[in-house]
Amino acid sequence: MAATQNFADIRAQFPILNQQENGHPLVYLDNGATSQKPQMVIDALARYYRQENANVHRGVYGLSERATEKYEGAREKVRQFINAASTKEVVFVRGTTEAINLVAQSWARENLKEGDEIIVTEMEHHSNIVPWQLLRDQLGIRLNVLRMNNQGEICLGALQGMVSEKTKLVAATHMSNALGTINPVKEMTEIAHSVGAKMLVDGAQACAHMAIDVADIGCDFYALSGHKMYGPTGIGVLYAKETLLEAMPPYQGGGDMIYSVTFEKTEYNVLPYKFEAGTPNISGAIGLGAAIDFLTAIGMEQVAGFEHELLAYATESLSRIDGLQIIGQAKNKGGVISFIIEGVHPHDMATLMDQDGIAVRASHHCAMPVMQHFNVPATVRASLGVYNNKADIDRLVSAIEEAKDMLL
Ligand SMILES: *Cc1c(COP(=O)(O)O)cnc(C)c1O
Repeated sequence: MAATQNFADIRAQFPILNQQENGHPLVYLDNGATSQKPQMVIDALARYYRQENANVHRGVYGLSERATEKYEGAREKVRQFINAASTKEVVFVRGTTEAINLVAQSWARENLKEGDEIIVTEMEHHSNIVPWQLLRDQLGIRLNVLRMNNQGEICLGALQGMVSEKTKLVAATHMSNALGTINPVKEMTEIAHSVGAKMLVDGAQACAHMAIDVADIGCDFYALSGHKMYGPTGIGVLYAKETLLEAMPPYQGGGDMIYSVTFEKTEYNVLPYKFEAGTPNISGAIGLGAAIDFLTAIGMEQVAGFEHELLAYATESLSRIDGLQIIGQAKNKGGVISFIIEGVHPHDMATLMDQDGIAVRASHHCAMPVMQHFNVPATVRASLGVYNNKADIDRLVSAIEEAKDMLL
């Protein structure tokens, strides 16, 4: 009971949820695309620009020192949140997409050669496919796909059978944004390491929904996006093991990533600054730090437990709708429900639901190979966050029923 009370209070911290959409109270169920921001994150951003703004790592004056302290404080919060060994392993980037491109163009470009192989799963977001295709075309490497079954699950035995001494990297999502599947990334890491390959985990979706422990997973790279975990857009994190970062060439050149420059030679800055060229997204990092404070105050175990219960309720409620088919029924699944309704185009469904104030997404969810697997052009996706509740699900269900009546 205490937990229920608790989560009602949490919802009240999100001012955007107090507004109406098309004359109805907003029900926001597009957390897979981006999350809403709690007051404390909005306050942290406003406070920064009102009282703390200065460039970091440069000034000797108080304001700049305070901005630097806040920025580096946010890095320490990220370190604790993902259980990295050191803040040297926490590189601020724009988001998951940039983190993966950084690994592709720095680590992989330096270490892979023609004939080497990278394995991705069939359920990857385009951000964990296209950077490897670009690299494939640059280096002549191979990109192999670990297929999933019709529940939307991969098979560890199949991965075991695919890896060889040619495999240099396994890149997989921790949680699928299109299906909700939670992958066994720790076991996948062990398989990758058994042949000397590295493991990259795309944590863009997982970071808002479960405790993340990179030391326990054992992965070499972990990518996440601030905006999916109640933080601002334009900030994300690449975690990488220190030894790997030390050996990797810079991704971009410019200010902050150098120690000294002459026209003959440039010496690079120490970690993690070697990978943070240019003035960083200071306010974004501070906002992400506030989002981490928000999540850790609830506790990630509690977040996962709450959403698990809500997912079960939603799955049961939606399953009762005639003609509705849930796409993605993995045993280990986070708060994402993708579905189709016989005879109804997903876009028409989502458009009608918007009329009822319900924000869901109808698309391929940047995972077109997933749509190809299930032989559908798109799905409607309801994705949960900490502020959703059973009343939201009930409104979702009646809106679907109403839309069905109109469209069929
Ligand atoms: C959102 C998402 C991405 C891309 O994140 P950006 O913040 O757009 O860079 C990558 N992978 C998954 C699984 C996602 O959900």
